Parts: sequence; structure tokens; C-alpha cells
Amino acid sequence: MSTPEPSINPAVAPADAADADRTPLTDEEWARRLTPQEFDVLRRAGTERPYTGEYWDTHVEGVYACRACGQELFRSSEKFDAHCGWPSFFAPLAEDRVEYIKDASLGMERIEVRCAACGSHMGHVFAGEGYGTPTDLRYCINSISLRLDPGPLTPSQDPADEDAAPGRGRA
Ligand SMILES: [Zn+2]
Repeated sequence: MSTPEPSINPAVAPADAADADRTPLTDEEWARRLTPQEFDVLRRAGTERPYTGEYWDTHVEGVYACRACGQELFRSSEKFDAHCGWPSFFAPLAEDRVEYIKDASLGMERIEVRCAACGSHMGHVFAGEGYGTPTDLRYCINSISLRLDPGPLTPSQDPADEDAAPGRGRA
């Protein structure tokens, strides 16, 4: 796959641009393609303030992709209202779309969720909170880590839970 060379600020040494198609992007490259806010969350494992993100209260049908690389990670059919201020899902689109990292920051042990394709930070997953979802898991994901592609979901993946979202009564 050959992508056209992006026009690079000549003041910046292009030393690491050479084998960009197989090595992960450098911080500098990420910083160029993401906004400062996106960079802070996706590449620095930051957390957006609750109730400020684009998708925490979104009920639109569609697929949520990684904002950094575009890999499809979550679907509206697994999204639920956790009222925590961040988009919450009870499962990813598929297990191999995300990876889990033990995160002992903030003096507690949490499980960080990252995009398996590009390693960008999504959020954390919490278990056993009693939300009554099919998995009892809450993938607490930053809106800014995601990009919603609205549209009807294809029912192929798993036929599990059509009625998991009681608010969505469209006949
Ligand atoms: Zn990604």
C-alpha cells in the first residue's frame, strides 16, 4: 500500500518518516493528525470531563470507530445509559478489536481499554457494577476517542440483544 507523502513542515526533520507504513506513528505524527484534545486522550491516556463529550447521551444507531485509526470498535446495540457522563458499552464490537492493559495509576487497579489496531487509549472497563446489562461490564469510553458512523447496523455479528435498549422504541 503506498500512500502519498503528506506535505511535511520542512522545519521538522523527517528522520522517522521513512518506514512509516510499518512502524507505529511517532508522537509527532500523531500530534499532527489529531487535535490537542484528541492527542491528550488517545495518546496520553487522558480522560475527558464527564458530560462534556459528544456521545455520552447519544442514542443514534451506528458504529463507533477509533478516532485515531478508524477501526470499528463499538456499536450502538451494545451502548447503554450508565449515566456516568461517558459513552458506555457492555461489550465491544468484537473482542479482537480492543486490547486490555492493567492500569495501576490513580492508586487503584483498573483495566484500560485500547484500540487493538493502533494502541490508542479508549477508556476503562469495569465489572460487576450491577447495571443489569447482559455482560455486567461497563466499557467507559471517552467520546473524543470515538467517531460515530451513523447508519443501520448489519445484524450479522451476534444476534444477542435487540431489546437491551428500552429507550429505543421505534416500530
Ligand atoms: Zn485505533
